Amino acid sequence: MVLLDFLSHSSIYFPPNDMLVRHRLLSLHPFATSFAASPPAPRPSAASFRPSLSLSARLKPANSPPPKRSAAAQPPAADELVRTALFVPPGVSREVVTPDMLLPGSNIVLGPYAGHAQIKQVEFVKSSARARDCPKDDRPEFAILGRSNVGKSSLINALARKKEFALTSKKPGKTQLINHFLINKSWYIVDLPGYGFANASQSARTDWSSFTKGYFLNRDTLVAVMLLIDASIPPQQIDLDCANWLGRNSIGMTFVFTKCDKMKGGKGTRPEENIKRFQDMISMYYKEPPPWIMTSSVTGLGRDELLLHMSQLRNYWDNNELD
Ligand code: GDP
Repeated sequence: MVLLDFLSHSSIYFPPNDMLVRHRLLSLHPFATSFAASPPAPRPSAASFRPSLSLSARLKPANSPPPKRSAAAQPPAADELVRTALFVPPGVSREVVTPDMLLPGSNIVLGPYAGHAQIKQVEFVKSSARARDCPKDDRPEFAILGRSNVGKSSLINALARKKEFALTSKKPGKTQLINHFLINKSWYIVDLPGYGFANASQSARTDWSSFTKGYFLNRDTLVAVMLLIDASIPPQQIDLDCANWLGRNSIGMTFVFTKCDKMKGGKGTRPEENIKRFQDMISMYYKEPPPWIMTSSVTGLGRDELLLHMSQLRNYWDNNELD
């Protein structure tokens, strides 16, 4: 399998964690896509440059040189898609990106920092009520965030290939806590409380926002937020608000669309339409599109691709926090 071949040939350097002294500089954060405080004037051609959701690019080794185009060849339309709406990670020049460098079902270009991605070991470390109670060992972490019922537990379990990995956060009393899971002894997945509980009291909602915002604003080791969006329903204002808050605060995020298996029939709109509408609404606020990826915990869609994406964010962070 192409993906596994790639993983086994990865040559990314993994420095031991205890050698690392990391300081996160938000202003230099490579994955905080630039955010426009007020919507910029729409670019007339932006819509036509949006990548197709059905794009099924083959995965190529990230560290192989990009294919050369002959000088005579006219850039195909797909190249224009690649140059405009894609998330291009550090280490890759936008000019050389071609569709086959894309992770399938996403706008994410795979770059030279992608490396070891599979989850081999998971260890629940602790639940914290405040950001200052979280583990203090400088390992990089990803926060998983989304509306209640978005499929967060299912996705975390799918990433870890374990049935009950994320159950901790479902236990009474743990739902309003920040739960740290140590992955492969080297990085964390952080399970944050879901927001937008239909039945939550006003005070419970306020609690959620104040303590979770404290986490985002004070957590130096946060590499990026995986913001889960349910693709089986139309865009929800609460998700847009959350994305905009993260953007305004320069916190790097990836939109992880969940439940993308619900493609056929049924009531309402299809995931592809919902995703397109969500992106249209978000694009008003971003000069550069944040990374996004389609997933399904039922079929496994996007699972390995999301892990690869996280590996390139993590490895870039590791290598650039050493100085
Ligand atoms: P959480 O509250 O965000 O942790 O959401 P859960 O993981 O508990 O999932 C909420 C509901 O959505 C459950 O009924 C899941 O079975 C369902 N669900 C979660 N992920 C998927 C998915 O990828 N596809 C489909 N069809 N259903 C899903």
